Amino acid sequence: MMDITLVWGDITEQQVDAIVNAANSSLMGGGGVDGAIHRRGGPAILDECRKLRASRFGGGLPTGYAVATTAGELPARWVIHTVGPVYSAAEDRSDLLASCYRESLRVADELGARTVAFPAVSAGVYGWPIHDAARIAVGTVLSTPSQVVEARFVLFTEDAYRAFQSALAAV
Ligand code: ADP
Repeated sequence: MMDITLVWGDITEQQVDAIVNAANSSLMGGGGVDGAIHRRGGPAILDECRKLRASRFGGGLPTGYAVATTAGELPARWVIHTVGPVYSAAEDRSDLLASCYRESLRVADELGARTVAFPAVSAGVYGWPIHDAARIAVGTVLSTPSQVVEARFVLFTEDAYRAFQSALAAV
C-alpha cells in the first residue's frame, strides 16, 4: 500500500531511495529543480547523463520517459530523470505528464526503490498550471500499481504545496 506525503521544501534535502528530477530532454542540466539537483548532487550525475546520451538516448530523453542515474552526493541512492511536456493551451498533453509519473514509478520498481520524492513536473519553466499539474500528479501516482511504499511530493512554493493539498483532498 502506497502512502502519499506532501512536503513544502527542497527536494535535494530528502532522504529517500530515489529523487525524481524534472529534467530536460538533453539530460545536460538546466534551471529549476534540475539545476538544484546537479548542484547538490555533484558531477557524478552529469557523468552518467553524458553516458546515457552516448548510448541509449543519443537523441535525448523523449518527453514522458524516465531513466535513472546515481544520486551522487544527494542523500538518496538514485535520481530518476523524467522529461515533462511544455504546457500548451492549444493541445492536451496531460497523458505525457501522467507518463512521467508512471514511467518514474516503473523505473523505481526496476531499481527496488521503495521511497520516492517527486517535484511538480512541468509546473515551473514548462508552465503547467499548478492545480492541474497537482491533479494529474496525485491521480496518476495513486492509480499506478508499484512496489513504492511512499511517494513524497516535495513542493518548493506555498502555492504548489496548497495545490497538492487540495488535489489530495479531492481523491
Ligand atoms: P519544469 O521545466 O518541468 O517546469 P522546473 O524545475 O522549472 O521544471 O519546475 C518544476 C517545479 O519544481 C516547480 O514547481 C518549481 O517551483 C519546483 N522546484 C524548483 N526547485 C526545486 C527544489 N529545489 N525542490 C523542489 N522543487 C523545486
